[in-house]
Amino acid sequence: MAIERTFSIIKPDATRRNLTGAVNAVIEKAGLRIVAQKRVLMTKAQAETFYAVHKERPFFGDLVAFMTSGPVVVQVLEGEDAVAKYRDVMGATNPANAAEGTIRKLFAESIEANSAHGSDSVDNAKVEIAQFFAGNEIVG
Ligand code: GDP
Ligand code: MG
Repeated sequence: MAIERTFSIIKPDATRRNLTGAVNAVIEKAGLRIVAQKRVLMTKAQAETFYAVHKERPFFGDLVAFMTSGPVVVQVLEGEDAVAKYRDVMGATNPANAAEGTIRKLFAESIEANSAHGSDSVDNAKVEIAQFFAGNEIVG
């Protein structure tokens, strides 16, 4: 397995409840390293671009409104098999289906307000990281 980087967002439902450190503890306990991190308020345009793949879905407008409703923490995570590993650590999109101990099982409020985003492929991780970080902001 290769050392990879993935892109993570701690979503507004989690920052609102002061859970940034709690989410980070789960990430670090899983062996992923936080090699870049910053707190930002996403603009509508940023959220629309980030979730453009979902623009035809019925929940797109709600999703953009949610993602811009408060601060998020954007991160780059590094480790062995980081993309798939972080998907496992987050758990299923719908917290009702998420496994015990996952971020979404522990913290998510709903299928939309589900506390975390993680890239679904190495290629998408590269695109997503570049949307939020300059190369010199990532320190491995
Ligand atoms: P993910 O890769 O597990 O985050 O899931 P998706 O890429 O399918 O969806 C992106 C995000 O859209 C999810 O993390 C949720 O925040 C939101 N979302 C997904 N499905 C639904 C839905 O059926 N209804 C609503 N309101 N939001 C959803
Ligand atoms: Mg997705």
